Amino acid sequence: MDTTHLSKFYKKSHTEKIDSLFLAGVISKKEKDSLMSQSLELDVETGNNMIENYICNYSLPMGVALNYVIDKEELVIPMAIEEPSVIAASSFAAKIIGSGGGFKTTVSQRQMIGQVTLKNVDDIHAAVKNVEEAEQAIVERANEAYPSIVKRGGGARSVSVRILEDDTDSGIPTFLSVHVHIDTQEAMGANIVNTMMEGIAPYIEELTGGKALLRILTNYATECLATATCEIPVHKLKTGEFSGEEVRDRIIEATQVATIDPYRAVTHNKGIMNGVDAVIVATGNDWRAIEAGVHAYASRSGQYRSLTKWSKNDKGDLVGELTLPLPIGTVGGSISIHPAAKLAHAILNHPKAHKLERIIVSVGLAQNFAAVRALVTEGIQKGHMGLHARSLAISAGAKGDHVQQVADILKKSKHKNLQRAKNILLNLLDEFDR
Ligand code: NDP
Repeated sequence: MDTTHLSKFYKKSHTEKIDSLFLAGVISKKEKDSLMSQSLELDVETGNNMIENYICNYSLPMGVALNYVIDKEELVIPMAIEEPSVIAASSFAAKIIGSGGGFKTTVSQRQMIGQVTLKNVDDIHAAVKNVEEAEQAIVERANEAYPSIVKRGGGARSVSVRILEDDTDSGIPTFLSVHVHIDTQEAMGANIVNTMMEGIAPYIEELTGGKALLRILTNYATECLATATCEIPVHKLKTGEFSGEEVRDRIIEATQVATIDPYRAVTHNKGIMNGVDAVIVATGNDWRAIEAGVHAYASRSGQYRSLTKWSKNDKGDLVGELTLPLPIGTVGGSISIHPAAKLAHAILNHPKAHKLERIIVSVGLAQNFAAVRALVTEGIQKGHMGLHARSLAISAGAKGDHVQQVADILKKSKHKNLQRAKNILLNLLDEFDR
């Protein structure tokens, strides 16, 4: 990638942006042409086949975050999101983090977990023993239910079993949950896992004497974890008002608050998900699945906490770390159907699922850094309202060059609201008519 073409990207016109992505080697000529001709919309036939009762497409803007260096590789990251400040914040954070060498990532094995959950198991301990002894047979039967994933090098690997006992004193009976740990290769694997669980359920009933109540994957993907770390030189944190050391310490303290206060932790983690979800959506992945799993992971200690950790190292530099469960796919679902999702994978140079996890967790860490840094220094509204001004201008009815003109005046105004935007636009139109 030749990043020289991407400098001052945000100042370029829409056509120049697409052209510079092509010149930088991020997209091919064919992808450039699709972007120029705006032919990345879902067509009616595809939409109709994707969901029930389809009536139209709901569009989200897709942009690219720049300046990312992940495991020493420069990357341009596609993000689909309606919130104005997210991509700017992401690129800004990636630039500062890049000055310290960028992101370093690790990933765990990629295994999804399927659950067959049983009721009416009379002898729980005998059932557990029977399941444990039949592990190999369960694995084989699960694989027989979805042979193509075995041919691809994946498949069921192991079995574990959990007794689910009531801890709420509300008279809930005991259930038994049989977990099958499955390598779904490049797929997120929900359908693969669910097919396997439905396939093995009768055998599990036989083994346990119980009745299968639920046969589905868990979205709590604790065996599909990705971690990103970064080190930011302390002098890079300096702002007009605060020294680098002060900003560093305030970021660490703000994260301590989010570690002990769930009210703050939810907002802290929402900031992480601003970036994560935007890449998940752009790449055609299931954001509900990721959201559900991530927030459960944030509660794994029994209390909902910050997902990031910020500390300082011996040199006094700021050190960040984020681990997320990221059961994403690079095939399956809508990924190979949706034209914009296909473009997003092309922009990322068609990463394997392991690599896409590394990318997404890095974006989450960057997004958290950007948000917390802004919060503990100038406050979040300055950047937000600056970018929100354009949305207000559009809501007020501005078109063409007027959008930026209204936004520029609005940014300098004391009250940045819709009425003010409308008044500015009226004044501009008045001047224009005169
Ligand atoms: P798919 O059902 O699309 O299955 C994956 C597909 O990818 C299979 O057809 C498979 O082919 C193909 N494939 C091609 N190459 C590979 C490869 N290298 N590795 C793995 N598969 C490959 O998707 P998933 O099983 O991933 O399920 C995801 C979908 O399920 C999403 O749309 C999600 O929203 C939805 N879902 C989510 C649930 C949840 O999260 N709780 C519940 C139910 C559905 P082949 O079959 O030939 O092997």
